[in-house]
Formats: sequence, structure tokens, C-alpha cells
Amino acid sequence: MKVKQSSGTKVSKANISRVLYERALAVIPGGVSRNSVLRKPYPTYASHGKGCYVTDVDGIERIDFANNMSSLIHGHARPEVVAAVSEQLSKGTVFTMATEVEIRFAEHLCARSASFEKVRFVNSGTEAVMTCIKAARAYTGRQKIAKIEGGYHGNYDYAEVSQTAKPNTWGDANAPASVPVAYGTPPSVLDDVIILPFNDIERALEILDHHSEQLACVLLDLMPHHVGLLSAAPDFVRALYQWTHDNGALFVVDEVITFRNQYGGAQQVYDILPDLTALGKIIGGGFPVGAIAGRKEVMDVTNPLSSNFLFPQSGTFSANNMTMTAGLISMTLFDEKAIESLNGLGQYAREQLREAIGIANIDACVSGEGSMFRIHFKSHLPNNFREVYANSIETQQSVCFIDYLFCHGIALMNTGTGALSTAMKKSEIDVMVDVALQGLRQVKKVHFS
Ligand code: PMP
Repeated sequence: MKVKQSSGTKVSKANISRVLYERALAVIPGGVSRNSVLRKPYPTYASHGKGCYVTDVDGIERIDFANNMSSLIHGHARPEVVAAVSEQLSKGTVFTMATEVEIRFAEHLCARSASFEKVRFVNSGTEAVMTCIKAARAYTGRQKIAKIEGGYHGNYDYAEVSQTAKPNTWGDANAPASVPVAYGTPPSVLDDVIILPFNDIERALEILDHHSEQLACVLLDLMPHHVGLLSAAPDFVRALYQWTHDNGALFVVDEVITFRNQYGGAQQVYDILPDLTALGKIIGGGFPVGAIAGRKEVMDVTNPLSSNFLFPQSGTFSANNMTMTAGLISMTLFDEKAIESLNGLGQYAREQLREAIGIANIDACVSGEGSMFRIHFKSHLPNNFREVYANSIETQQSVCFIDYLFCHGIALMNTGTGALSTAMKKSEIDVMVDVALQGLRQVKKVHFS
């Protein structure tokens, strides 16, 4: 794999990033505003990106399989997006007025899924999930929510419960504990969040039955990244969906990551019509975004014109012109054909990685669907969050592998996850797999204790 050094780069490798990080530490706690970009001994600072390549401030170019935590479906600086956004930029970025592009984008999204009768835009996936939960509470008049153990849904107090559960805190598998992420989380929040084991129908339904009168919604990610990028089993999804219908609760899916899986999101391949869906990441075309889409009757709790207006909801930058413009063009370009082709590339990447694992003869496996993959240093695919949880040796192996790839021109997320972009071709997958094979061999050589 070639690691290109731009001509005219005068500093030695990774010098500028180190210097920048020292400055950052003086003014930003930990030196960064999001922990996902931290690396040891210092984070790498980006200079620019083009297509599926990202170049850092030291002139080192890598194939970008992180894509800003899976949010850049077309990679960097896709010309059509740059042109549309540049034109809008010169006309103004955001106004205290409604704009037509918001309507056009809403029309586009509503046409993508039968469950999207109405949509409202917000500014992040966190805000989208929070808005879904508040809408569900307002609609049902109930206060509790249920979510999957370990599931990541952003930083809202309720949505983040159990996200960082550990063997010494997660409790009995029959009744997983509600574990806070942040110190100071009010105990009342923990009381109102019910934790379900992933893909375990019997246990999940038993837990739900204990709270049937109080649950506003069940919140589910159909391929939860933090739970291993494992797909929810169709009968598990169907059982939870049916339970919500039978018990007056709403079924809320978090498609902040999985909307890339199908034209109408991952929900398209399940036999369900969620009441509400949280969207984010790719629908912003590279700009901050979130959206809540769903059944008209439920969405009407946010509608000041409705007789059921129970949840006043707003945001200064919601539906701003930059996000709407970039999102609309990006999603228009991400049509059925583009999705099929990208998912084919994803399938190829997972197959090739599995082959590399076989050749390296190492205990590792690959999860993921559509255009994503995740590598685990475990002999068999895990089934749930507790099995995904990496022990100290597996963690060291994973860090060694990810660092090896990063030093040899391949950027993955810090979980060993890759998200493909439409800027990639088979040739980039082949390069990644070649480097991954060397990385696996390297991991095998090192003795971890
Ligand atoms: N839900 C899921 C499934 C996510 O992966 C994320 C972000 N990684 C969020 C919600 C929160 O989105 P954001 O970071 O835009 O707030």
C-alpha cells in the first residue's frame, strides 16, 4: 500500500499533528471535542479529503473507511454536493423564515419509506432520538422507554443508559441493569429506562411485560454498532413490534446509521411499519443533521395546528439551508442503483476479509451488512452486547490491528468498523484487504498479555 507524502512537505512524519495536539490540550479538555477522533499518542489532524481519500496535515493520504463515523455516504467533496452547497452559501446559510428546500427534502424522504408520513428536521442524531422519545411520551402519556443493552443512540440522558455497561455493572442477564453513562445522571432517569437483551425474545418480552402500563416506546437500532454491528433477528424485531402494538406503546427505530442499508432504511427488509424513525448522519450530506419521521397521527404532537399539539419542538439551526441543500442532493444521488452497487461492494469486502482471516489463521470474525463491516478478535460472531464486550487481550489485538492499518494507509473507526462510500471501487477494497491481511499477521505475531 502506498502512503503518499505530498510534495513540498517539509516536516517529518506526524510532526504537525503532535504540535497541534499540544496546543489543543491547553484549551480543549482532552484536546478534542469528540472522543471518537482520539488516537494514541495523539490524534491525527485532517487537512483535506477528496472522494474516498483523506489527507492529514503531515501530507499522509489514507483510504477513508471511517467516513466521519459513517456519515459521508459519497466520501469527501463530491462535486455535485460542492456545487449545490457553494451556490447556496453565497445566498445565505439560514434565515428566520421557512425555505422551499426544506419542503423538497421532506418530500424526498417521505417518498423513501411507507412509514415516513411526516418528517421534521433537527441537528444531530442525538436530537433526533431525543425528539422521538419525547414525542412518544407526549403521544402515549407514559414516561418509560425500553432499549437494548449496550445500544448507542447519542447523548440524551435516557437514550444513553447502559451504553457503557461493563461486566461488573451490567447485572443479571434476566434483568439487565440500567447503568448510567455520566456521573450525576438522576436515579429517576435510570428508573425510567428498561434494558432489554438483544435478539433474546423470551427474556425481552418477560421484561417488557413487567412495565406494560408505563412504557411509551421500545427504541431499537436494527443493526446496532455498539452491540457489534449485528443485525436484529427478524423474529426478534417482529416480537417487539407486536408487543408495542398489543400494549399501547410506540415502536421507534433508530436508523441514524442503518438508513444507508436500503432505499427506505434497514426497516424495509423487516415486516414492520415503525411509528417513529430517528435519522441522521448520511442524510446531512456532510453537514450536521437529524430528523424524526413517522406516522402522521404521532408526528402531530409536534404540530402547533393540531388538536393534539402536546410537544412544542424547535431548534435555531433546524432545517438550515446548508444541511437541507447538501442532504437533498446527497440522498437523491444515493438512489436504489447506488445502494445496490454499494451493498455489493460491502458484501465483497466482508467476504474478502473473512478469507484474509482464514489465511492468517487467527481468531477473528466479521460482522455487518449492506455497506458496513466490523472486525472482532473473537473466534465466533457474538450474539449480543455481553458477548461483543472485548476482554483485555481482544482489546489490545484490536488496537494493534487498527493502528497497523492506519500506519499503512487505511483509516477505520476506532471500533474496527468500516463504512464504505460510493466514491470507492473494488480496487480500494482490494487494497484494504491486502493491508488487513498483513495487519492480522502482525497481530498474530505479537504476544499480548
Ligand atoms: N444513533 C446512532 C445509531 C448513532 O450511531 C449515533 C451516532 N454515532 C447517534 C444516534 C447520535 O448521532 P449524533 O452523533 O449525530 O448525535
